Amino acid sequence: MRGFAARADVEEVERFLAERVRPLPAQAVPLAACFGRVLAADIRSERDVPAFARAAMDGFALRGTESFGATDYDPIGLRVIGVALPGRPFAGVVGPGEAVRIMTGAPMPDGADAVAPAEICEEADGRVSVRDAVPPLRHVGARGEDVRAGETVLHAGRRLRPQDVGLLASIGIDTVWCHSRPRVALVMTGDELLPPGSRPEGAKIVDSNSLVLRGLALRDSAEIVAVEMLPDRPDRIRTALLRADVDVLLVSGGSSVGQEDFAPRLVAELGTLDFHGVAMRPSSPVGVGRIGKGQGLRASQAGPVPRSEAEPSEAERWVFLLPGNPVSCLCAYEFFAGPSLRALGGLPRAWPHRRARLPLARKIASAIGRVDYVRVAIENGCAVPLATSGASILSSTVRAAGAVIVPRGLEGVPEGAEVDVLLYDDAPLEAEGLP
Ligand code: AMP
Ligand code: MG
Repeated sequence: MRGFAARADVEEVERFLAERVRPLPAQAVPLAACFGRVLAADIRSERDVPAFARAAMDGFALRGTESFGATDYDPIGLRVIGVALPGRPFAGVVGPGEAVRIMTGAPMPDGADAVAPAEICEEADGRVSVRDAVPPLRHVGARGEDVRAGETVLHAGRRLRPQDVGLLASIGIDTVWCHSRPRVALVMTGDELLPPGSRPEGAKIVDSNSLVLRGLALRDSAEIVAVEMLPDRPDRIRTALLRADVDVLLVSGGSSVGQEDFAPRLVAELGTLDFHGVAMRPSSPVGVGRIGKGQGLRASQAGPVPRSEAEPSEAERWVFLLPGNPVSCLCAYEFFAGPSLRALGGLPRAWPHRRARLPLARKIASAIGRVDYVRVAIENGCAVPLATSGASILSSTVRAAGAVIVPRGLEGVPEGAEVDVLLYDDAPLEAEGLP
């Protein structure tokens, strides 16, 4: 066993990935499957929505000017010549002295330009009396009041919210060009691992990394196509690295330079190991590499951008070798795999965490030349670095409200200095319910 001869800088690896990892080609996605997907192109409406002027109240459609002067004591009387319902318009024309009973959402009949709400109307014997003035356009929704023809309703890069998908339906779209979701295999390696759901026994431990990685990768737009749990055996790891059906392999465990650490050597043999060993804590035994994908389209893919071999993200699978220690695994994912998955999926590379700027309750020690990822709790409006924070202490990430990143150029951060806490949670701080 020997240590790393040299370690890369975090920024160097980040820059390399930022330059090489490009969005996957778009695919046509039916509306019902669009929620959470990332738009690959702007969406313009070809039509006005609604396509007709519509009643905004239940009541009577009439000619507004005819109601001028109407009061409780001197209502106007109109002849009711028909009914307009949503989806069942009134076919005739409203002439002078006439009205049509109308329900909210029904198209305005020709000739009418205002709706007298039911509350100010009384209908009897085929006539309606209206007790107040309703000027033209009152209680009428104009054609195109929701969306105008030609309007861009959503921009490329948008992660579709439920209401976005609803709007797409309303403008008459059935499928949408979305970025393909990066297809990810989680490969857990270690002779000591039991599958999640087992009871830890003897010298065995239960794999937790696959669950953490699954959640993180789903957050970052990935589709998890496989989870494998492998012993520390090079033949088994080699087979997993050659999976043809993925864009990204997240390999946990065996990422260092020990005798059981096969993955880095295998990646170098099967493709390129671009980085191995990074000046950071935790996660220093992290690796990044690529393995050629060979040719052929994915069955699920079809898009306006043809797949070309020149495009590295298409011709290669990215391999992230993540240390097995749970905190290292999470941290290495956040620094390198997360931005790459987001970039493949058409999302911004930047970390998605909300930030809180808080004073530091106790100093953080670091070293020049190294990036530190420090878990902090939040107490009394201060960021408190957690004491039991070894890379194997998964519970430190559960007790923490977030993490502080100490950049390479600093020896540490003094007590009282303001730091940016990358929050693990989207919930407001008061609602965190931390013990
Ligand atoms: P390794 O990176 O394989 O040297 O593993 C470092 C430490 O992380 C060891 O204590 C492992 O038992 C632990 N570990 C490895 N893989 C996992 C996993 N999937 N889940 C939880 N802990 C793990
Ligand atoms: Mg191991």
